[in-house]
Amino acid sequence: MEYIRLRGIGVSPGIAIGEVHLTEKVVFTSRKEDIAPSQVENELNRLCRAIDRTKKELVRIKDQIKQRVGEEHAFIFEAHIMILEDKSLRNEIKASIKQEKCRAEWAISRAHDKYQKIFESIDDEYFRQRKSDVSDVLSKVYRNLAAAKKKKKKEDEEKDKILVAHDLLPSEAATKLGKGNVLGLAIDMGGQTSHTAILARSLNIPTVVGLRNISQRVKEGDYLILDGTDGEIIINPPMAIKKEFLSKKKKYDDYRKELQKTAKLRSTTLDEVNFMPLANIELPEEVNMAFSLGAEGIGLFRSEFIYLQSQSLPTEEDHFSIYSQLAREAHPAPVYIRTVDLGGEKNLPQLKIEKEPNPALGLRAIRFSLRDKDLFKIQIRAILRASSLKNLRVLIPMVTEFEEIGEIKMLFEEVKDELRSSKVKFDEHLPLGVMIEVPAAAALTDVLVEEVDYLSIGTNDLIQYYLAVDRSNEFVSYLYKPLHPSILRLIKFIIETARRKGKEITVCGEMAADPLSAIILLGFGLRKFSMNPIFIPRIKNALRSVEYKTAKNVVQRAMSLKSAQEIEEYIIEKILVRHPEAFLMGQIT
Ligand code: PEP
Ligand code: MG
Repeated sequence: MEYIRLRGIGVSPGIAIGEVHLTEKVVFTSRKEDIAPSQVENELNRLCRAIDRTKKELVRIKDQIKQRVGEEHAFIFEAHIMILEDKSLRNEIKASIKQEKCRAEWAISRAHDKYQKIFESIDDEYFRQRKSDVSDVLSKVYRNLAAAKKKKKKEDEEKDKILVAHDLLPSEAATKLGKGNVLGLAIDMGGQTSHTAILARSLNIPTVVGLRNISQRVKEGDYLILDGTDGEIIINPPMAIKKEFLSKKKKYDDYRKELQKTAKLRSTTLDEVNFMPLANIELPEEVNMAFSLGAEGIGLFRSEFIYLQSQSLPTEEDHFSIYSQLAREAHPAPVYIRTVDLGGEKNLPQLKIEKEPNPALGLRAIRFSLRDKDLFKIQIRAILRASSLKNLRVLIPMVTEFEEIGEIKMLFEEVKDELRSSKVKFDEHLPLGVMIEVPAAAALTDVLVEEVDYLSIGTNDLIQYYLAVDRSNEFVSYLYKPLHPSILRLIKFIIETARRKGKEITVCGEMAADPLSAIILLGFGLRKFSMNPIFIPRIKNALRSVEYKTAKNVVQRAMSLKSAQEIEEYIIEKILVRHPEAFLMGQIT
């Protein structure tokens, strides 16, 4: 039999195998159906019943979502309940039925058209976007005008199937995915960081987006294989392919269970030395997933993504709502907000940064923030305002010299004064730390560490700058060696200096996510490892499988070796012999 393979973007890993369910969009009627005056009462009752059913549905979904993925995704339904309960909207629909003697379907459709036009005319982008929420709520009421029996049947039809849609609004996604009976999700539209993708990841639903026209290429009941890891869809596959994917699915599901188990274990080495796995994230919606994989805090929030996701410049309120969400969700665990690492290659048209001949060495990160102080102060003010739970921390990227820290502190003091005079509460002792990712800062660790509350080593950039190897250039990637003896000496110096001065030290570059490197870092005395959350289980497994004492001794001896290869071989040999389970776990994909 003919079968079709389609490629999209895998945004939530895992494999789903099952029948297609195509989502139906409500089509509002444009046909006015008149009713007799005696039927008006009946029509109003139908409307009230549909509104009641919609409210029950929204409350139920809100509770389910709250339980399964947390408050932040549930709030959208509170907003929807408020729209549903809005008196002017209800009265308008009722008035249409009474005055025009028409069916409730037409009255709702008319209200829908009117509100869409009103929202479209609003200048503010955020409020303009809210038109889809009104549309969502009215669609639900419209659907609920149909008899309850019919609805029950529809819910059954959706059970344990792969949902295929042209596009899904976040609220539609939350409604459909939150029920817990969707095997997988395939969408024509969308990208990696869309809210739907994030929600699917949090709910562990394999998802492929960006498939362009899958909603037209499949029909209800078609058989699908969906691979959310590789971003592939196979429509009506033959038995041999089905079998291959069933075994792939089993492997993945078993692996996932192992990961979840590791998350619940204590973060201590065999000789009872505590360590702390932390997560590097780009979106506040990733917090729950990070904690479920064993993160004990957010070690790096890359705040520049607030800029990268939007066409216009984010406002102080945009920053504030994101930082507040982070603080709330992670509380009491810490969240290290890195101030924007923009400029260089992360250029945005709305920032109007001039093209630079050598962007990696140019106006990047804190250099950019200190040049555009007004923009920087917006971020500082938002962080301070969101800090009252006292679990926020600030991290400054790309610091090169002592003077920069003075300037940064002055800006914080200026903003604190402004907030005090407007009686806005904030954490008076909001901790401040710097990233060590420029070699000059590394050499100056003993000086810089005196000025701040903690340090975080950004090995991705530190290696690129120390070895003079572009981290994204494949032609020189053979030289990009985290285990280069010079790198290890430098990192050892930074960690030991910070510890000697009694200051907290973290590694937040990719090095912390590699089992062998993590064991070396442990041996140097590191206790805080921040990484992409999907790597936390394997690092936790590696560090739980070794003794700190052994790591320390082995690493000490390795420091006299001359090359990265010798160091790697030596440590693998010494650690593997004693603790083979440290390297057992692969990565999630
Ligand atoms: C680093 O440089 O190691 C780091 C964590 O920052 P980024 O990867 O965002 O540059
Ligand atoms: Mg960096």
